[in-house]
Amino acid sequence: MTNYIIAIFGIVVLMATYKIYLDREFYRHLFELEDFFESELDFTSLSKNILIRLMKETNSTSGMIYWLDETQNDFKLKTLNGIPTDKISVITRILRQPQGFIEKIAGNPQGFIIKDFKNDDYFKKMEESQELAAFYQSLMVIPLTTVENKILGILLLFKDQSIFTNRQLNLLTVFAPRLAVRLDNARLYQVTRETALENSRLYVNISKLYHQATLDELTGLANRMFLIQRMKEELKKASRFQQPISLIFVDIDNFKNVNAKYSHQIGDQVLIEFADLLRNSIREYDVASRFGGEEFVLLLPQASLTNSVELAERLREKVANTNFCAAADGLNITASFGVSAIMKITAQPNQLDDERLTNYVESLVSRADDALGEAKNSGRNKVVYRTEEAEE
Ligand code: GH3
Ligand code: MG
Ligand code: MG
Repeated sequence: MTNYIIAIFGIVVLMATYKIYLDREFYRHLFELEDFFESELDFTSLSKNILIRLMKETNSTSGMIYWLDETQNDFKLKTLNGIPTDKISVITRILRQPQGFIEKIAGNPQGFIIKDFKNDDYFKKMEESQELAAFYQSLMVIPLTTVENKILGILLLFKDQSIFTNRQLNLLTVFAPRLAVRLDNARLYQVTRETALENSRLYVNISKLYHQATLDELTGLANRMFLIQRMKEELKKASRFQQPISLIFVDIDNFKNVNAKYSHQIGDQVLIEFADLLRNSIREYDVASRFGGEEFVLLLPQASLTNSVELAERLREKVANTNFCAAADGLNITASFGVSAIMKITAQPNQLDDERLTNYVESLVSRADDALGEAKNSGRNKVVYRTEEAEE
């Protein structure tokens, strides 16, 4: 008799120990899963991985996670595993029942188990649920709530021929708030990342537009509009620091002939290389621009008329000695130059309103253009300059 009691006692102790062991194993797996969360920030793959792990821990046949879409105040299917496609809409319909399933879930924040679809009081009345009953026996519902008891998501686990245990329910209920927080963080991270991506796309588009508006498409030099804008800024600086400012107009000689003799494409290539030559011959704070066609303008802050005439002369020689389009046998061109400068701006910086700035711009442009005209008329491949006195 005593032996019998000892044997029973032994079995009870063994069973209790085994149960503690099982619980500990379950927690261990779940905490392992938490470690795994740390490295996974993508909401979609995180929810999928969580679902698969939980299904494994509970021996579920199928599973789904719905997540709250706050903009529409509705639960959207986020991830699923092992659910036949035709059953998805049935389950979603059950969830959307007016005054139905969602309310039942909200009323049971600890989750619940439907042990048998066929004989469950709640589901027996529901037409859709009989479709599920043919397929599954048991369902475990775990609301994924925040600590403030707000339902963020719903975890549904199905078994086809067996029943979920209360132990499984209790263990998952302990785990549910941690799950909800992790998933919500991942979702927020995704939203932030998408917003950041959207912002950078916008930024790229805006800078493209800015480039289109300020740069010449063929040569990548500044366009006329950008040049005029920069001239006004540089004139203000020149006035503040009492420095000179110069302009060089450059026009390729007989460019029509290049197009006619070679081709329009070769003409384009010459323009690109000509622009590079200009760009590589100026200082960092100078501006090279394409004013139109085969006409270019260099803006040279802090450069006196003498400095600029010297630069123009060097450029003239360089152009004449350069073999353009070397890849296609090569060709030679010359260019004519017109130079103007303002040695000193008499107006004070605070007197420089847009009208005065425009007058200065026009003075520089018209004198350089006039000088260029003279260079063309006197035989091309020349540098001609106009002093301020000559204009007044
Ligand atoms: P000049 O020495 O008097 O400046 O003679 P020119 O032939 O260079 O000047 P004109 O103004 O008579 O002709 C300019 C030519 O430049 C005509 C036009 O077809 C060509 N051109 C303008 N823009 C482009 C372009 O983007 N690509 C090419 N290939 N040609 C261009
Ligand atoms: Mg020309
Ligand atoms: Mg021209």
